[in-house]
Amino acid sequence: MRKEGGKHITVGVLALQGSFLEHKKMIERLGCESLEVRKVNELGKIDALIIPGGESTTMNHHLALGDFRSVLVDKINSGFPVYGTCAGAILLAKTIDGKENKNGLAVMDIDISRNAYGSQMDSFEEIIKIVIDGEILNVPAVYIRAPKINSVGSGVEILSKNQEGEIVMARQGKMLVTTFHPELTHDKSVHSYFLERVIQTL
Ligand code: GLN
Repeated sequence: MRKEGGKHITVGVLALQGSFLEHKKMIERLGCESLEVRKVNELGKIDALIIPGGESTTMNHHLALGDFRSVLVDKINSGFPVYGTCAGAILLAKTIDGKENKNGLAVMDIDISRNAYGSQMDSFEEIIKIVIDGEILNVPAVYIRAPKINSVGSGVEILSKNQEGEIVMARQGKMLVTTFHPELTHDKSVHSYFLERVIQTL
């Protein structure tokens, strides 16, 4: 995929910890370049960033080193496209259980609860419906110790609710979150949406 002027789009995947390789493969399957991002200066080489699932506390710890967190927050606040899955969604949320997300990036107007499905439901899969421009897509969603989005601000668009009525995919400007892991399935819909509708549009 190319941006205006013919240059290829490069999507970074935060590779400090978690399921970054699967995102990388998905991006490459969709014809984009990808870059594993481990250092703050690598943020300058990418057009968008995916924050994968994993352990949000561990990722926060790495981001706290040097100026990684503040540079990333400034970039996102200036319109840099970012997609957070699961732990990535936790990093992006402004609040966790109603409290300021002090250790995270705290950029997106959502409230989230970590590990919200308890031990019995640590991992499960379901088919969800995503509505994009009136078209309904049935997408397999894998949840692993998943968070729950409790509420969203007025600037946030809800893109999917699951069968229980829980918000599982949402967007605010160029920030996209899913509480599930599309990179662990063969379905490319969510990554295509990020590439074509979030990164490419104003
Ligand atoms: N439970 C993890 C956390 O709170 C998120 C799980 C995941 O990303 N699959 O960071």
